[in-house]
Amino acid sequence: MNARKPVIIVVEDDPPIRRFLRTSLNAQGFAVHEADCGQRGIVEAGVRKPDLMILDLGLPDMDGVEVVKSVREWSQLPIIVLSARSAEQPKIEALDAGADDYLTKPFGLGELLARIRVALRHSVRTSEQTESGTFVSGTLTVDLIRRQVRVDGREVALTPIQYRLLAVFVKHAGKVLTHRQVLKEVWGPAHAEDFHYLRIYMSQLRHKLEGDPTQPQHLITESGVGYRLKVHEDKPNQVPTNSPDSN
Ligand code: CA
Repeated sequence: MNARKPVIIVVEDDPPIRRFLRTSLNAQGFAVHEADCGQRGIVEAGVRKPDLMILDLGLPDMDGVEVVKSVREWSQLPIIVLSARSAEQPKIEALDAGADDYLTKPFGLGELLARIRVALRHSVRTSEQTESGTFVSGTLTVDLIRRQVRVDGREVALTPIQYRLLAVFVKHAGKVLTHRQVLKEVWGPAHAEDFHYLRIYMSQLRHKLEGDPTQPQHLITESGVGYRLKVHEDKPNQVPTNSPDSN
């Protein structure tokens, strides 16, 4: 295997957390570069050509949200932010500014690796989807060309708005979307604060797509932040796969 190791920039001012991230990510086959402040993180992102950034929101020299904004001016580099448990607002601001995901401290390595896999795959997945025009995850299949939605192979009828809402999640599959991001994409910027619209339509969509709407398997609530369309990595049995899966 001569493949280049994926490169991750870790921007974190807390040395023990930085050390933990470097050691664990190295062991998983990632090349890691570290930055102990926001300015250095931005520079590293420019020179190292990283595949992903892990960014602490509480930095000594600048707000992590500002780092996200700065990087987003020139790069679509996947960014996973780390935040303290109490800080809901900075997390939402970072996501609105273009961060891909977040983890709340303290977090486990398994959780972090799962988020990294989704974030690294996201850009690839988006182009794959556009080509095949079909999104498949667990029991859910969305044919974006025919605008056809199936659950367990059975066709589900959605209203135009329900479909548009689902299509936004498919477009960002695996990624957490803030309430504001979803409202803007589906209803337009003027409705970015109409959280009740979203609650109503999410509930309708769950009733149509979920086996048990109170225990959603697809449209997951990210408490206080928004929602995520979960990407199930195992293909359901009833969908034939004609190419070997290279996970
Ligand atoms: Ca910090």
